[in-house]
Amino acid sequence: MVVPVYHERDNLAELVERVGQALLPTGWSFELICVDDGSTDGSLALLAELAQRHAWLRPVALARNYGQSTALQAGFERARGRYIVTLDGDLQNDPADIPALIERLQQDPEVDVISGWRRQRQDKALSRKLPSMLANRLISWATRVRLHDYGCALKAYRREIIERIHLYGELHRFIPSLAKEAGARIVEVPVRHHPRTRGQSKYGIDRTFRVILDLVLIVFFLRYRQRPLHAFGGLGLWLLVPGILILLYLGVLKLLGEAIGGRPLLMAGVMMALMGVQLIVAGLTGELLIRIYHEGAARPQYHTRALPAPRPDA
Ligand code: UDP
Ligand code: MG
Repeated sequence: MVVPVYHERDNLAELVERVGQALLPTGWSFELICVDDGSTDGSLALLAELAQRHAWLRPVALARNYGQSTALQAGFERARGRYIVTLDGDLQNDPADIPALIERLQQDPEVDVISGWRRQRQDKALSRKLPSMLANRLISWATRVRLHDYGCALKAYRREIIERIHLYGELHRFIPSLAKEAGARIVEVPVRHHPRTRGQSKYGIDRTFRVILDLVLIVFFLRYRQRPLHAFGGLGLWLLVPGILILLYLGVLKLLGEAIGGRPLLMAGVMMALMGVQLIVAGLTGELLIRIYHEGAARPQYHTRALPAPRPDA
């Protein structure tokens, strides 16, 4: 389990206890990696103290507050399990749901990621549930991963999927899209959700803007990463071609002896042609970057999955 922790002092003891209650009876070997994201409320000291008592608790301390995505990434890089579960440190997710998620991954080779679905979400309607509903719709439309609840932190993964993903910025919000891009099959399973009883939510309405910018980035990244020329160049051609036609038309008028100087159309033609050329050049530059990206590092271009087990009667 990987848990990002930022100012969760009053939740940690109960979190650790409830994770233990949920996992110890299973007999599985497990670890709880709590990544302290630069808390200044004593969360880290408490984690260190709790780790004295529970060998399976592994605190990690980031040098400063980097944000939830980076905290998760730090945890992923340290996780040793075959399956990796994420959940929040504020007990809004219920550790008791974890074993069922793992069992599903164990039993169903068709599934690589299980995403929690907070059917009864216990947050404020106007400030949290509504923006979240809009974001869910937008993200699932834009990235073509249809989920009811993108934002649920409680998720379970096969290890190899996590190894293919690299989180930074606000990317944790888009993990299902990134996972699908990495070849994962994702299902949603209803999970419990509780109100935050202690500590405060770290996010206000201002994050909406960051999320929107990241959404633009992620859509662009997922859809056009391989073909920047198609994205920029396509738009460029839509401007360049009409722009040239306008200029040709004005050129003919000029040749016929008409004055064309004061026409708004001249301005439009010049701008469209110029912008069109620039966008096409931007697309070509993107193509160069893609090629450098693929030829540079030894980065895998694809991933394979295990062949299905032969049926007993076959
Ligand atoms: N968190 C973090 N770094 C941050 C902000 C939040 O590690 O900069 C952690 C936080 O401690 C919690 C999780 O990310 O475990 C989700 O944060 P929060 O509960 O405040 O968000 P909400 O549930 O309100 O979306
Ligand atoms: Mg929360």
